[in-house]
Amino acid sequence: DQRVFMFSEGNASMRELLGGKGADLAEMTRAGLPVPYGFTITTASCRDYYTHLGHIPLSLIEEIEAALVSLEQKTGKTFGNSANPLFVAVRSGAVTSMPGMMDTILNLGMNDETSEGLAAMTGNRKYALECYARFIQMYGHVVMGIENNAFSKLLRQLNTAQGTEHIGQLEQADLAELIDKYKSLIHQRTKKPIPQNVREQLIDAVRAIFRSWSNPRAKVYRKVHKIPEDQGTAVSVQEMVFGNLDEFSGTGVLFTRNPSTGVHEILGEYLPSAQGEEVVMGIRTPFGISYLAQTMPAVYEELHEAASRLEAWYGDIQDIEFTIEQGKLYILQTRGARRTAQAAMKAAVDYAKEGIITKEEALLRIEPEHLNQLLHQSIEAQDADKVVATGLPASPGAVSGALVFDSETAEAWTSVGKRVILVRRETTPQDIHGVIAAEGLLTLRGGMTSHAAVVARGMGTPCVCGCEEMELREDVKELVCGEYTFLEGDLISLDGATGQVYAGEIKLKDPEISEELSLVLSWADEIKHMKVYANIDQPGDVKYARKWGAEGIGLCRTEHMFLSPSRLPLIQRVIVAGNAQERQEALYRLLPIQQSDFEQIFTEMDGLPVTIRLLDPPLHEFLPKLEVLEGRKEHLRMITMDGDTEELDKVERVISKVQELRETNPMLGWRGARLGIVFPEIYDMQIEAIFRAAANCIDRGISVVPEIMIPLVGHANELSTLRRLVDEVAEQVLRENLRHCPYRVGTMIEVPRAALTAAEIAKHADFFSFGTNDLTQMTLGYSRDDAERRFLSQYLEQKIVEANPFEVLDEEGVGELMKLALNRGRSWKPQLVAGLCGEHGGDRDSIRFCHQIGLDYVSCSPYRVPFARIAAAQAEI
Ligand code: PEP
Ligand code: MG
Repeated sequence: DQRVFMFSEGNASMRELLGGKGADLAEMTRAGLPVPYGFTITTASCRDYYTHLGHIPLSLIEEIEAALVSLEQKTGKTFGNSANPLFVAVRSGAVTSMPGMMDTILNLGMNDETSEGLAAMTGNRKYALECYARFIQMYGHVVMGIENNAFSKLLRQLNTAQGTEHIGQLEQADLAELIDKYKSLIHQRTKKPIPQNVREQLIDAVRAIFRSWSNPRAKVYRKVHKIPEDQGTAVSVQEMVFGNLDEFSGTGVLFTRNPSTGVHEILGEYLPSAQGEEVVMGIRTPFGISYLAQTMPAVYEELHEAASRLEAWYGDIQDIEFTIEQGKLYILQTRGARRTAQAAMKAAVDYAKEGIITKEEALLRIEPEHLNQLLHQSIEAQDADKVVATGLPASPGAVSGALVFDSETAEAWTSVGKRVILVRRETTPQDIHGVIAAEGLLTLRGGMTSHAAVVARGMGTPCVCGCEEMELREDVKELVCGEYTFLEGDLISLDGATGQVYAGEIKLKDPEISEELSLVLSWADEIKHMKVYANIDQPGDVKYARKWGAEGIGLCRTEHMFLSPSRLPLIQRVIVAGNAQERQEALYRLLPIQQSDFEQIFTEMDGLPVTIRLLDPPLHEFLPKLEVLEGRKEHLRMITMDGDTEELDKVERVISKVQELRETNPMLGWRGARLGIVFPEIYDMQIEAIFRAAANCIDRGISVVPEIMIPLVGHANELSTLRRLVDEVAEQVLRENLRHCPYRVGTMIEVPRAALTAAEIAKHADFFSFGTNDLTQMTLGYSRDDAERRFLSQYLEQKIVEANPFEVLDEEGVGELMKLALNRGRSWKPQLVAGLCGEHGGDRDSIRFCHQIGLDYVSCSPYRVPFARIAAAQAEI
């Protein structure tokens, strides 16, 4: 097996083997772009490295040596030769890009002799020493394991002594001193010198990069982004070009379209006389790309053209790293840009409009998860008075939270439910856990392409970058901004769309659907066949369901309508009523309330299906907790006068009712259809309210076909009994009102027995709706209320289950039951309408499964509706 590929031997389709970076470098070389030449060591070699316990076989070393010879021939330079030295950059490159998570070593091939060779060749000794110093630091850190800070400290000391700010300002003699100090630091810590043998440097560097695949931050990153652990990284070895040679040299990054908005404009940053790491690390804040356009217009033109070619080639927004060496442009890397959902959406739509890709391709590019970001909150009313600073708008969305100064605190506070905003001078990959935990991110240095910005955008975390007017006193945990001083825990807000930072909490407003999103959604609707409905709890939710494009209501959970403070006492009175008359009275007071809820829903959904589920939860959920009641009783007993025990009697009545209703296993208890059969009065009232509402709507010219859904059915007789109840009440109400109203009666399939006996059940059902929350609970025997807290997280970690079955449908188990139920149900009633209304209706994989087995619809929470529409279309493509 070939383990090393020259750039000219690879192409873009070899990502699995060459990693994203290696494949792209090969592709660019083939396209004739100015790419420094080199070769890539395959991801398979990295996997072998791990299976061979960190051993690099001789055969691989020989292949690397041979590739090195080709590289020497191509460049006309010699590795390790002081006369015309070749230097190389050694970079990691996984199949899926993991920006900043693994290591890179630049200037490799430097030693005491070749650095002098570089000095002679460029006539610039100061420069050569600077490169050497940088190399020692990188090598010392990445390969020899010394923390970066130890080097930075030495550099800082020297800068302080010389009154300079960065390495570029040091004189030759200082640099020589720095190199000595770096070398002795290495010697002191590792008892070894930095290797002078450049071939040894190279092999050790390759090994170190393989090793960096499993450093803690890369592992965290992979977990968050669901990247397989066993993929491994490729390593690219590429001729070094020097961006820090003179003022006609420099380095930069650019996006072919704005990664924040998707607008077609080149956006980038450029640092003259610098090497790549400085831009990415956000150590020096770079100039905008227009600086390059002004200072070297011809090079800018060439860059612009290369960027357009690359974008057309890949048909996607590119993130390009380039270096200019003495006026000559080199493209070092290109990759699909990490961007906000908004930018991804806009670019995909624009490419489809321009005919570069099809609508289907555009849709496939939309990651449903990204819609979460698109549906970001923003600031309700801009309040200029509260703005304390403005930085770069690095990742959109507005948030308020408590200020924290380090990643550990961010994580700790988040784990106890606080919303935090993390402020850092600049973030490094070591901060990844803090960035994940924080709701918002604020940095003082670094541009739109700094690590913090890139990572935040990828995760949809609002971020303001490069807020230089602030002063951070990390040691005392103070953030000073003009007259304001913020301490740990102080509330601040930021708006990642404008870059503004606010003191205190700020009022946020709900997201709007952008023009592009609504276009994409209309494409999705054209393509998909499965319908997307919404689950609602209250009439007020209908407006969101409509706003996000629900084609119907798949589940209206009526119990939530009883829970407002004014209604709760009424349902409580129904439950604790001493006799039938008391109960009827309370029910009659609830009736008009329910009726008006339903009228409102029917009116707003005019003509679209509305599925109303009759009461489901066990009754005790509507009553106060026993401890609370006991407390109240104690209190009353203390203050009650002799004889006047009315209040006390009432409380005692409730207590005995609560005790009577108490069950050991309430989720498997007296709820759903079981309640409707044994205690039909509530269902009776609900059905009456539904048909009165329907009759009124029909009077007003509204088209309504109520769909009444019976929960927790496990036996066909339950459904037939309750169906009779619906028919009787419907007939009575409609006759009274002299109205005709078609309606349907269906059932949830959420008890395994219902799935198994679906043929019998279908005889009495107009539709099935899979309640996969309960169906998962009862099929796996995992309590939906407790499993996550108890064992499920461990199960996930140990890979006993692949995904949380309450989020992603368990296809092998629950899914099989669904298929079986559907087949049996439709064998009796071929036209049986079937959908799903559990939480899985908002999950991409589960939606695909629903499409595959032939469901007619999925129903999910209103905010997930756009997501589900796109996922349903993707399932079809
Ligand atoms: C279900 O069980 O999947 C369902 C939708 O009903 P609920 O979540 O209300 O039990
Ligand atoms: Mg249920």
